[in-house]
Amino acid sequence: MGFLSKLFGGKKQEVVAEAIQVECPHSVLVARWDSVQDMGIEEKATRFMCESCKEMFEPAEAQRLRDTLSERIAATTPAETETDSAGAS
Ligand SMILES: [Zn+2]
Repeated sequence: MGFLSKLFGGKKQEVVAEAIQVECPHSVLVARWDSVQDMGIEEKATRFMCESCKEMFEPAEAQRLRDTLSERIAATTPAETETDSAGAS
């Protein structure tokens, strides 16, 4: 009955965001270099890290992600709800 039960009783008000699983679009890829002298030269980057989810990508994969970024963003963003939905795969 004391204040302890007040502290530890009751429901936890923590919001569990587990249910919401948003796929990371890896929109911001940060280049990483193994050798210091290559730093700044994006062609020589050994891997790329997504700034959002910290996932690492091979340069080829990063390139592919960048190439497909706009269409992937368009696919996940319900901003433009046009009725033109013909031929969507
Ligand atoms: Zn990501």
